[in-house]
Amino acid sequence: MIMVCCEQAVLLGASNKVWNDSGMTQQHILDQLFKNYNILIQRIDAHTRSIMDNLGANIACKKGCDDCCQFLTLFPVEAFALSRAFAALSQHDRERVMSQARAGEDACPLLVDHVCMVYQARPVICRTHGFPIYLEKDGDIMVDFCTKNFKGIKEIPKSALLDIDQLNILLTAVNQNFMAHFDADLPDRIPVSDALQLWSVLDIEPIGS
Ligand code: SF4
Repeated sequence: MIMVCCEQAVLLGASNKVWNDSGMTQQHILDQLFKNYNILIQRIDAHTRSIMDNLGANIACKKGCDDCCQFLTLFPVEAFALSRAFAALSQHDRERVMSQARAGEDACPLLVDHVCMVYQARPVICRTHGFPIYLEKDGDIMVDFCTKNFKGIKEIPKSALLDIDQLNILLTAVNQNFMAHFDADLPDRIPVSDALQLWSVLDIEPIGS
């Protein structure tokens, strides 16, 4: 259970002052809050798009393949972005997802009929799953990717490898910057099932409204 109530979770500090004093629209403030996160997402998407452009024939990832859609925990910035998209779903869809979340199964509750209900707002890990990541440990370089991908390829081009340590450093920094605008006692990592309702306790408009 996430310890956030309306009073705790309202935007405080700099962003709250901006909200009250500057006449900036709510949408503009939200855009600023998610600015760094969106830039990071765009960079990840550009990387995976480039892999698809160059090696797409050897990538099995496609709509309907949901092997990676298992229980996840998220940084708060990801959790709020996800929850913002969840709040924009129809009531019917939200109820279906919530009922899956309550069932507590291993699959991500946002997976409905093998489709992600918030695909455009999916978290960082969901954007990199299946693609080749690499990390260095004790001088060794380890490469990992979904075994359904790159069949028949002897060597994956270096340009296709995603430095996962570097990505985690960037995501941590983006999250810290985001959290500086909140006065909420949030855990470091939030399960998707707990993240779903975050946006509604903030009492602000969902994305696209
Ligand atoms: S958020 Fe979407 S892509 Fe990510 S695990 Fe859940 S259903 Fe899959």
